[in-house]
Amino acid sequence: MYSPSESGLSGVRRPARISPIASGVPSVVQSLRRHAAGPRVPFSVEFNPPRDAAGEARLWRAVREFERMHPAFVSMTYGAGGSTKDRTARITGQLAQQTTLLPVAHLTAVGHSVAELRALVGSYADCGIRNILVLRGDPPGDPLGEWHRHPDGVEYAEELVRIVRDLGDFHVGVASFPQGHHRSPDLDTDTAFLAAKLRAGADYSITQMFFDVEHYLRLRDRVLAADPVQGAKPIIPELMPITSMRTVARAEELSGRALPAAVLDRLRRAAGDGPEENRAAVRRVGIEIATEMAQRLIDEGAPCLHFITLNFAKATTEVLTNLGYEVTAAPLSA
Ligand code: FAD
Repeated sequence: MYSPSESGLSGVRRPARISPIASGVPSVVQSLRRHAAGPRVPFSVEFNPPRDAAGEARLWRAVREFERMHPAFVSMTYGAGGSTKDRTARITGQLAQQTTLLPVAHLTAVGHSVAELRALVGSYADCGIRNILVLRGDPPGDPLGEWHRHPDGVEYAEELVRIVRDLGDFHVGVASFPQGHHRSPDLDTDTAFLAAKLRAGADYSITQMFFDVEHYLRLRDRVLAADPVQGAKPIIPELMPITSMRTVARAEELSGRALPAAVLDRLRRAAGDGPEENRAAVRRVGIEIATEMAQRLIDEGAPCLHFITLNFAKATTEVLTNLGYEVTAAPLSA
């Protein structure tokens, strides 16, 4: 059902309000509540759009592995590139239609007009996706490069949260940054912007990955102090198990932050001084670090553990097994 009306954004017409569909698709927050009634703190995983058929086959192997462990949700990152974009939309739809998982589609403003963003949300709705992680995205090619909004697009994620919420019955999450976003002038301003995104209609946030749990705890305290209502919304910590020194570089690139010296030292000691890194030792220590962080987060009352998987199930499964999660757990009752 569509109802024509004007958007509040620079005269762009809002083409459609996507009807609620009475879809029965739970929100992330509902799913967290349901999973929290189980014996373990809920967990969730992040996938990336595969680049080719081999990557897609690997992704599906990981998907089927995780399906047996009943994550609260799975998220699919979004890159604005041409063929990857189409593959992303197709696979995210398949996650909704061909698995038992609850998919969350990442949606980034970068390179898109408002009309295109609305069309994308509409295509997600068509395949049964109701949960969207709303992001601004980074400049393509160089995440630290200068940001230019699309001439008919949005400047900040906050505006996109409003657009998605305006389009219909969507459950929206946003990004949060334990050490502050790299473009924010200071932590208090960063916290104020996060609170504004939540007030605009987001139900929860997922953090950028971090390697010092204190950073997560301080973020949680800051949001709660800045805005107790928004601070009560779940802040889901994101973890990435390190499996090689190459993943260290990837982690630093993705987070835009160097790993804490203590963590790097442990990994470097494991890698050894030889011409080749001791990969087995780095992997073992990386899993140990992720397990220790996850346990501390559980002890500190984190609402969920969200794992970056790079489309491999093994490392995350090992961390979860260390924490006592069962790999072939029985399905949760409805
Ligand atoms: P915003 O909230 O818009 O913030 C961007 C900058 O503007 C920040 O410095 C903020 O402090 C500032 N700001 C915000 N509001 C205002 C305001 N009203 N006035 C002035 N300044 C303001 N990127 C992808 O390309 N694809 C993905 O799938 C993806 N997934 C991600 C998942 C997670 C969990 C996280 C943490 C990040 C992800 N990213 C992804 C990266 C993200 O897009 C970048 O970190 C981006 O630079 C910031 O996005 P944002 O949504 O936080 O932007």
